[in-house]
Amino acid sequence: MESLYNLNYDQMCEYALDHGWKSYRGHQIFQWLYRNRVFDIDEMTNVSKETREILKKDFIVNPLELIKKQVSHDGTTKFLFKTSDGALLESVMMVFDYGRSVCVSSQVGCNMGCAFCASGLTKKKRDLTSGEMVAQVMYVQKELDKDNLRLSHIVVMGTGEPFDNYDNVMNFLAIVNHDRGLGIGSRHITISTCGIVPRILDFANEHTQYNLAISLHAPNDELRDQLMPVNHAYPLKELMEAIQYYGKENNRRLTFEYILLKGVNDHPEHAKQLSKLLHGMNAYVNLIPYNAVDEKGFKSVTHDEAMVFYDLLMKNHVRCTIRKEHGNDIDAACGQLRIKEIKKEGI
Ligand code: SAH
Repeated sequence: MESLYNLNYDQMCEYALDHGWKSYRGHQIFQWLYRNRVFDIDEMTNVSKETREILKKDFIVNPLELIKKQVSHDGTTKFLFKTSDGALLESVMMVFDYGRSVCVSSQVGCNMGCAFCASGLTKKKRDLTSGEMVAQVMYVQKELDKDNLRLSHIVVMGTGEPFDNYDNVMNFLAIVNHDRGLGIGSRHITISTCGIVPRILDFANEHTQYNLAISLHAPNDELRDQLMPVNHAYPLKELMEAIQYYGKENNRRLTFEYILLKGVNDHPEHAKQLSKLLHGMNAYVNLIPYNAVDEKGFKSVTHDEAMVFYDLLMKNHVRCTIRKEHGNDIDAACGQLRIKEIKKEGI
């Protein structure tokens, strides 16, 4: 059955109108979901029983079942969920000094096939609905509610390529961003893409205030072709043009992610090429420590090695930071809890 989490605010009000109710009913239901955070339609006590019965015929609230939760010593919490059709997905809550952030999955498996990534170990089974993405956020917020804490940030950096599920992702973000619901600020929301150029252009034209991050990981086409098959379809020249268009249209700084893979993309020459590639752009590079994936054979650099790369970029006037690792005592990040469970269950 469909989840109420699939409906954005306007659709909720339209649903109410379609049933001959006042649109205010839609508003009330939205508030019950996102302000009171009920999982059960019968808890919507200021909605008449008759209305609730009609709602219950068409909808459930929460489409996900929590299978497993792991808490790290640094507060990072991983959630493993099962969908109604038996697919597994995972979300991660991370604690930062500026707030609490959830990393949301956008697809079941992934077809992008990046050489280093655990997500691609299982091909995409299907896109997640917007309701299934909303549910990941609501689960985390309900956990935080127990301690009176608030989720402040969302990153769409879990399993899947968000721009390969564009409409559902945009609808999901409209729901969690809506000021009559959770109201997570646009500037606190980040979408990460491996570089699907036509969708970057669409996104640029929508002028939302969400942050966009580009997974770059290589400073030249030869290496990027090897690491990220998407580069065959959208090579660096096209990607850079698209991201520059986005930056100009939206007056935004350009964020790039670069995983440092030992002996692969961490040579001083790569730092030089990267500086050249980003020269003259209002760019910012996030250097990411690699979470080793058993099946992949890549190794992370040490912190000192990362610092050498960092210094080279800074010397060449490229602003960058080294991202802090989170929850490395709980099956690391990046889809590995899900992969472990799939292996165990033999799905
Ligand atoms: N498909 C999107 C979003 C999901 S991946 C994208 O490619 O951006 C989110 C980020 O995590 C990407 O930058 C991705 O390259 C990176 N990543 C994937 N596997 C990783 C690993 N094992 N360790 C560290 N980062 C990883």
